[in-house]
Amino acid sequence: MADVTIQGFQKFYGSVEVIPPLDLEIRTGEFVVLVGPSGSGKSTLLRMIAGLEKIDAGTVSIDGEDITGRDPGDRDMAMVFQSYALYPHMTVAENMTFALRMRGTGDAVIRERLTEALRMLSLEGYENRKPAQLSGGQRQRVAMGRAIVRQPRVFLFDEPLSNLDAKLRARTRLELRELHDRLGATSIFVTHDQIEAMTMADRIVLLDHGRIQQIGSPREIYEEPRNRFVASFIGSPE
Ligand code: ADP
Ligand code: MG
Repeated sequence: MADVTIQGFQKFYGSVEVIPPLDLEIRTGEFVVLVGPSGSGKSTLLRMIAGLEKIDAGTVSIDGEDITGRDPGDRDMAMVFQSYALYPHMTVAENMTFALRMRGTGDAVIRERLTEALRMLSLEGYENRKPAQLSGGQRQRVAMGRAIVRQPRVFLFDEPLSNLDAKLRARTRLELRELHDRLGATSIFVTHDQIEAMTMADRIVLLDHGRIQQIGSPREIYEEPRNRFVASFIGSPE
């Protein structure tokens, strides 16, 4: 569980400022959704938090501890991407525990965390299958399992449901949100889909051109859009 504090985050690609100086505070246990149109800077911002993208100015802290200079693997965060990039030659169990093995985590701990993650994700009995022998939804859950076994302080999601068909996506939204609640996790979830944001978020951060247009609960955003952009993006009455 963790507070994440972002102060003065700024990013240029060449001479283009894609993230103007930005502050954001995420509280322990929250499910925060970063939403906005394509190109609004959501992935860039998430990758800056993860340490996967160089930041041009600003700091990020977890629980008051500045982690700006740390390597991605050293931040106590786990990221789930749109393309799950599971290793095709490895089993479900091997995919889920690979990162732990690389860190030298002991066999007993690995076994315990794997068993628990398989149970949480309803993947018991699938641990010896290869990714090609799974449905799209199951593959998505394996990607989730890979993050869970690391027991990170913060989960980062970049459009993890975008490859699923509409029906499965709607169900997986609810499952993912329930999982967050059960784990007592802190999650930052990126999507371009306002319905996903409205149904999953404790708080929505609405981005446009790298700027925060509004932060609020789904209800606040819907009922009191601060400007025309928010109203039209969310589809609330003006
Ligand atoms: P989103 O995830 O909201 O779709 P991105 O964070 O991917 O947006 O992109 C934000 C802006 O930065 C866009 O204008 C995009 O074209 C630009 N951008 C992203 N990555 C790069 C890059 N590696 N080089 C140059 N421009 C980039
Ligand atoms: Mg993106």
